[in-house]
Amino acid sequence: MTGRLWQWMLAYLVLLAAASAWFADTAWKSVTGYQSPYALDRQFEAGPALVERAVLVVLDGLRADRVSELPRFGGLASRGASGLIRTTEPSLSYPARAALVSGAWPEVSGVTTNAASGLVPVQSLLSLGVDLGMRVAVYGSGFWPRAFGPGMDHRPFGSQMPEFKPSALVRWQGDSCDQAVDHLRSADAQLHVIDVMAGDEAGHEFGGASDAYIEVIASVDRCLGRIVDVAGPDVVVLAVSDHGHIDRWGKGGHGGLEPEVMAAPFAMAGPRVAVTGPLDVEIIDIAPTLSILLGLPIPANSQGRVIWESLEVPGGQRSRLQALEQTQRTALAAHLPDREAALAANRSRRLPWAILASLWFVSLAAFAARRQDLAGLAVAFAVFAAAYAALFFVFQLGTSISTSVRQEYLNGFLARNIAATGLAFVAAALFLVSRVGRNREAAVRLAVILTSVFGLAVAAVHGFYGLRMEGFMLELGPGFKAYLNLFAIVGLALGAAGVSLAMPRLPRFRRDSS
Ligand SMILES: [Zn+2]
Repeated sequence: MTGRLWQWMLAYLVLLAAASAWFADTAWKSVTGYQSPYALDRQFEAGPALVERAVLVVLDGLRADRVSELPRFGGLASRGASGLIRTTEPSLSYPARAALVSGAWPEVSGVTTNAASGLVPVQSLLSLGVDLGMRVAVYGSGFWPRAFGPGMDHRPFGSQMPEFKPSALVRWQGDSCDQAVDHLRSADAQLHVIDVMAGDEAGHEFGGASDAYIEVIASVDRCLGRIVDVAGPDVVVLAVSDHGHIDRWGKGGHGGLEPEVMAAPFAMAGPRVAVTGPLDVEIIDIAPTLSILLGLPIPANSQGRVIWESLEVPGGQRSRLQALEQTQRTALAAHLPDREAALAANRSRRLPWAILASLWFVSLAAFAARRQDLAGLAVAFAVFAAAYAALFFVFQLGTSISTSVRQEYLNGFLARNIAATGLAFVAAALFLVSRVGRNREAAVRLAVILTSVFGLAVAAVHGFYGLRMEGFMLELGPGFKAYLNLFAIVGLALGAAGVSLAMPRLPRFRRDSS
């Protein structure tokens, strides 16, 4: 009878692991494959152009606390408006770029991760500019024409960015800047976007506080200086970072909610730009502000506001332009669903399932602990927690998406989490076996209790916040932790299977009856 029980429990663990992996996979795909239902297909009225030309310089991965060391960025800031923008959640390059030119948060633009491909369904400065016959040019990432359509004068990077060596990155940035400046001159576009990328690569490879990062962003700053010089005094130059970088164990990363990642610096100077003190704005405010400057309609799905305090507009003209802004904002507000009400409705739909799952996990843990050596289980639990914490450190894991260093590294990161939980379980099970003897059932019972704890944590997050994207961005903080916990269940099941198979070959312990 008892010989059967461990097999049933192990079968349950394998099923639970498969369900967890499936749930995690569909949850992640609900983010990466998300399609925005919010596109508002309406062209709003535009005011007259306040300036002839504007250049948007995207300084990829530039940390806000580093710009005080950058003379050209500082020069631009001192001649105009500057400050910090709050970037998108997740703090990834494509969602942030989409927000920069559309004024829409990821759940509205539909660009939720760097896996986004295809045309963005909402208006942008680029698509509106092209549609209205403006000369629009972009130097850099192929994301721009892919996402915002043909018709712009796009020049891609001349060469692949080198990895792993600051000096090579500095050289690459110099060459890339030659091409960018050349393109800026020849395209003579009214709206010109330039990607300055080397800082992001240095951030990933060496960390956002490293000397190598500082060396590379100095070359990024030199490039900004050249762009400002070539643009000349009659062109508005807006330099903006898309996100910062963490610095952890000699590596960087972004995507999460760390303050050093979410706050990105910006500076804008040129005709019609006011000289301001430090401003605190959002990344979605850039697109409507540039629209007003260039005389473009505000992109229909722009959720931002015009940063009026950064503009010099005479009173009469300003009130007319503010009325145009108000029209767009009112129409969009009427078009978008009420966020709080929609979230509450989603939550009340999930809550019964989350409660049911919680009851299941609590009952199963109670069943597994019944008539067991509770003190032994408690210490085994502590051994697991200590071993998992230690392996979390050794395997360089973390509880934020930024700690996976790059979105492309996420699978390896999750595999290390599975290994960490599996190994920590083996340590805890060996401890338990040393107390109770070679007993597969005791080990599998421990695994059932531990998976129930992780399962409870996942159920709570799913109940409160939801783990699938249903028209609203996930809560990335608790969401990512739940994602790790789902894979921890996989690791525990693998550990339990491994321990059960190896049990007969384990050395005999003091209390072994067999
Ligand atoms: Zn990056």
